[in-house]
Amino acid sequence: MIHRYIFVVGGVMSGVGKGVTTASIGKILQARGYTVTAIKIDPYVNVDAGTMNPVEHGEVFVTDDGDETDQDMGNYERFLDIDLTSMNYMTTGRVYMTVIDRERNLGYKGRCVQVVPHIPEEVINRIKKATAHAKADFTVVEVGGTVGEYENILFLEAARMMHLADPKNVQFILVSYLPVPKHLGEMKTKPTQHATRTLNSAGIHPDFIVCRGEQYMDKPRREKLSVFCNVKPNDVISAPDVSSIYHIPAMFEKQGLSDEMLKKFGVKPKKSDLSKWKKMAEVQETAQKNVKIGVVGKYFESGDYTLSDSYISVIEALKAAAWANGARVEMDWINSEEFETSPSKLKNLSKYDGILVPGGFGTRGIEGVIATVKYCREKKIPYFGICYGMQLACVEFARNVLGKKEAHTVEVDETTKDPIIHINPTQLKNVRENRYGGTMRLGAYDCELKEGSIAHKAYKQESVSERHRHRYEFNNDYLEALEKKGMMISGVNPQTGLVEIVELKKHPFFVGVQFHPEFKSRPLRPHPIFKAFIAAALK
Ligand code: GLN
Repeated sequence: MIHRYIFVVGGVMSGVGKGVTTASIGKILQARGYTVTAIKIDPYVNVDAGTMNPVEHGEVFVTDDGDETDQDMGNYERFLDIDLTSMNYMTTGRVYMTVIDRERNLGYKGRCVQVVPHIPEEVINRIKKATAHAKADFTVVEVGGTVGEYENILFLEAARMMHLADPKNVQFILVSYLPVPKHLGEMKTKPTQHATRTLNSAGIHPDFIVCRGEQYMDKPRREKLSVFCNVKPNDVISAPDVSSIYHIPAMFEKQGLSDEMLKKFGVKPKKSDLSKWKKMAEVQETAQKNVKIGVVGKYFESGDYTLSDSYISVIEALKAAAWANGARVEMDWINSEEFETSPSKLKNLSKYDGILVPGGFGTRGIEGVIATVKYCREKKIPYFGICYGMQLACVEFARNVLGKKEAHTVEVDETTKDPIIHINPTQLKNVRENRYGGTMRLGAYDCELKEGSIAHKAYKQESVSERHRHRYEFNNDYLEALEKKGMMISGVNPQTGLVEIVELKKHPFFVGVQFHPEFKSRPLRPHPIFKAFIAAALK
């Protein structure tokens, strides 16, 4: 089997949507009937994204096999509707760690181990392994960072070496940015020309240049870039801002990108079928119904940090669920700390069709979340709690229904009399010994569903598998007491007896899940619980 590789690198600046571009390139090849996989390379030294502050890094996307990766992996999974593994993700830290471990085990048989070639060689090994595992016709590899940076040079070197070894089966795409300075009102190509030259100096020539920008690129600029960057005019692709990222694959196809790519690879193109995808992208803009969801949590007020980056999978899952219900979702981000300083503001929650509390960590804004839960429970507003949102729903229930006023999660109150959410000895040891990297309960675990529950009705299955990322868990000592008072434990992990889903019986929709269902939601296959939540909210 011939494997073909497409490296996507960034020029000019970061934050122009290289991840979505990579996912879209994968999509247009997949839409032609090829098997496609995707790899994300993050040039930082962290071994994974799990130890990074979301303010700095955005969402930590968790794979089935429990890797804590970059949010772009979520874009790949959503666009390609495939499950990726830790093989599809690497960082500088991870690559070095493998090479150093190998050296310690005499894996280099006494040779001098050097940055070049041994680091790029390990990068290549990893790319090839992930490709073979996926039996991929095409692997799209996104090299994080921007060309010209110190950090990603070794990854570019790996890409260059792969091209040298097999030029016919390796292509490069430069994703660049064409600014339109206000005082000029004209799209400027010079930064892209420089980026191309910088890439050239790494021994790499782009096969295509994808030009991000606020507007479409006109013909003169296309021609200019063609001449100055040494790329045919047809291979300069315009990628203006669009109303939804899901329009991007079709936008590329309109400009003939996959045809050109396949031609260059020497592959006779199969027919493209993007129809379902395009329809989905349309529905989101034509849906008549509106559903208003309040997302409540503690939020970080920090410079240019955007919330949407930390909860991108939750947002996309809500959108997908809304489309599946023929509706459009409107989201408001509500800082739970508001309710601590002015509890009267809680009544503002009544204007929402549903409230969602996503995952989180730490102590800030927690009482505000608990007050939110109480409000939704009593006022019968559809409530969906994810991970921390589930744990705090249990705390609220223990306090206000069981009358255990001091009930808490030990994450916030280590010495609480009623640790309704507690920590198991292994996790406690991790925390005490400062072993934070990759030590949470991570990845896919089975969950058995109780018949007749909301969850069971939503999934229409007895047993499901969902992805996790948490350290604390429901304390089964309180299980009976809770059930007696009307909280249903509707999902349990059969191997450990850990509580995975709780819900309330006398409520239109009150569900808390210990896992992160958002990671398994796909645009064309929205997650069953998200779908049920939106359906309840629309009622
Ligand atoms: N902070 C909680 C825990 O560690 C919940 C984590 C989460 O919401 N992802 O268990």
